[in-house]
Amino acid sequence: MAIQRNNEEVAYSFFKYNDTEETHIFTGHFTPETCTAKAVSICEKLNRKEENISQIKACLNEDQARAKAAELGRSVCGTCVSHLYTTY
Ligand SMILES: [Zn+2]
Repeated sequence: MAIQRNNEEVAYSFFKYNDTEETHIFTGHFTPETCTAKAVSICEKLNRKEENISQIKACLNEDQARAKAAELGRSVCGTCVSHLYTTY
């Protein structure tokens, strides 16, 4: 069943490099079934088309993304994480 969501809410997805475990965060929007993610990470250093990356977690809201970033710790890109604590 599709869950009705606020269209304004940002969807966060986490991807990591398979070799270094370095993780970057992508923003997107929730859709009825899943979510979108931009082609490049928040810091613009990682492109989702790169081959040696894996998706860790997709379609998190802001609170969930903060919790995930805290759980992953230092492997998460600082530039990407700082975006989670920036209000626009
Ligand atoms: Zn990053």
